[in-house]
Amino acid sequence: MINQEMFQLGAEPSAIRELFAYGLERKAQIGEDKVFDFSIGNPSVPAPEVVSEVIRELLEVPPCELHGYSPAAGIQSVREAVARYVEKTFGVKATAAKVYMTAGAAGALAISIAAVTCPGDEVIVISPYFPEYRTWICASGCECLEVPALTPSFQPDIEALDAAIGEKTAAVIVNSPNNPVGCVYTEESVSALAALLRKKEEELGRPIYLISDEPYRQITYGAVVPSFPAHYDRTIICYSYSKALSLPGERIGFIYVNDAAPDATEVFTAVAGAGRALGYVCAPVLLQRVVERCIDVPSDVEAYRENRKLLTGGLAALGYEFVEPDGAFYLWVRALEEDAQAFSDRAKEYELLLVPSDSFGVGGWVRVSYCVSADVIQNAMPAFKALKESYSA
Ligand code: PLP
Repeated sequence: MINQEMFQLGAEPSAIRELFAYGLERKAQIGEDKVFDFSIGNPSVPAPEVVSEVIRELLEVPPCELHGYSPAAGIQSVREAVARYVEKTFGVKATAAKVYMTAGAAGALAISIAAVTCPGDEVIVISPYFPEYRTWICASGCECLEVPALTPSFQPDIEALDAAIGEKTAAVIVNSPNNPVGCVYTEESVSALAALLRKKEEELGRPIYLISDEPYRQITYGAVVPSFPAHYDRTIICYSYSKALSLPGERIGFIYVNDAAPDATEVFTAVAGAGRALGYVCAPVLLQRVVERCIDVPSDVEAYRENRKLLTGGLAALGYEFVEPDGAFYLWVRALEEDAQAFSDRAKEYELLLVPSDSFGVGGWVRVSYCVSADVIQNAMPAFKALKESYSA
């Protein structure tokens, strides 16, 4: 008999993917340029040229060496390069022994959640949140507990978290810069969250892990992204090159278990075990080598910065309400009716594909991905105008 839980996951594609698939179908029907697809976070900026150069050079490496298995946690020299990067970026002392190479942030998160939870535990997410967190939490036999962010800042609500963290809390997942809102947590928020977790660990007598999902760390517009491991010892970083180097299809990222965690070695061993249990061993080897050689290549955010300006300027002029994003490439826009799904459905009539907020754990908003060509944003403005007018008619 098949596993019904897995069947359900397979049978119900995510709202984002469903809308993306609809967009592909619709483009085939009426033409690519007639559909304004703001559904998915597929980077519109090409990978830096140096990435292609490095790949070309790597193709000269003898094939059996180039394409062979690496150790489960990754190639040693790659893990060392990542550890040096972690030290520079997060301001903590890091060793290669706590780096585990993964298939993107998705692999990193699925592993990390499985590593630090037992069935029946609770994992806290801050809503709105990336919908797949729930999938990975539930797949580990845990409960996904949503704690709404403060509004309008969308910073973590420390008081609400204080009330929510209890005996069953194994971990809290944070994501800054944030998908879907685009906010970046402030130093004060991170420091307050770390202090709360320390207090709760002491009160409850159990470790609480902070899983920091950071695929957008490099995509910011001036905001400084604080370092979680510098504030909280039991931090696990889930990092990815999907957005930083525009390599989402290549599936490469890493887990870093903060060396300062009192149980860092045990946690890393559990990470290795979870990687093994979930089949995430030996992350794509060619890409591991690319990461090693391109680790200091900066992300190109200029196109996103321009898009952000174009989109926020256009929507502000039309009277839409939204959260000014400090990072990532999503705009969180207030739906023009309470039912976000109904609003998204109405937007479709104008060929606008906007992801309703429900699957992010809140109602009443839509997410607009602006990792698209500037033309799409420009050409979509009459549709946004018509959509707005349809509510005042
Ligand atoms: N976490 C967040 C917040 C994301 O937005 C995404 C992808 O869009 C992921 C994780 C998964 O990223 P990856 O492609 O690295 O698996």
